[in-house]
Amino acid sequence: MSEPLLSVKRLKVSYGGIHAVKGIDFTVNHGEQVTLIGANGAGKTSSLRALTGLQPFEGDILFDGRSIRGVPPHRLLQQGLVMVPEGRGIFARMTVLENLQLGAYSRHDKPAVRQDLERVCALFPRLRERLRQQAGLLSGGEQQMVAMGRALLSRPRLLVLDEPSMGLAPIVVDAIFDVIKTLASDGVTLLLVEQNARLALESTEHAYVLDSGSLSHSGRSADMLDDEKIKQAYLGE
Ligand code: ATP
Repeated sequence: MSEPLLSVKRLKVSYGGIHAVKGIDFTVNHGEQVTLIGANGAGKTSSLRALTGLQPFEGDILFDGRSIRGVPPHRLLQQGLVMVPEGRGIFARMTVLENLQLGAYSRHDKPAVRQDLERVCALFPRLRERLRQQAGLLSGGEQQMVAMGRALLSRPRLLVLDEPSMGLAPIVVDAIFDVIKTLASDGVTLLLVEQNARLALESTEHAYVLDSGSLSHSGRSADMLDDEKIKQAYLGE
């Protein structure tokens, strides 16, 4: 089997004396969709911030076989490690189109960028209607769509999604997860952190469960949906 696209080994993240992540291992293979689930404060966001260059860490993180230690976030982005952060990070005063185009700023293949923009508009028809609107005036769900569209326009090799459902109405969450499932069936390599464990498990192939900074389970997402302990602890059953 080929080397994983992302390999995380003995990852530790601390804030002063607080040990948020206590030495975890996980991998994401090419074309695979992986989720990290866990309660509030389990260390999910800290793990993502470490692997996108935003947070100092101990241990090893290899992207495509190379250590990311010391590589600045914009370089990781150019290498295809692209995160849609919790809170979206869109530019409120710019239009939707300008926000989307930012995702492609370092690309020179204009015809392919146009194709990708068309693909994003097909995935998120609401954005097509709002391309000329100021992004700050959109609803939270539409802003999440802009953030995901912008990430897709950079042609990610690994798309990292942090809490895409955060703060959104259930109907909008369903729309966002329909797109995540489409991306998954298209073979986009995904790492998803999500409070809504059921949706996360339904949209991915492999799952890791984080509990107070340590991994408590790892396995096929479909199996976890049927696992009694997981059901009780994370699926509200
Ligand atoms: P959530 O779903 O609430 O974001 P999470 O699983 O993503 O939870 P983290 O945000 O990674 O968890 O937080 C893990 C632990 O680290 C928590 O105890 C949190 O309080 C602590 N923590 C996170 N960020 C900081 C920070 N900047 N300074 C100090 N402690 C922090």
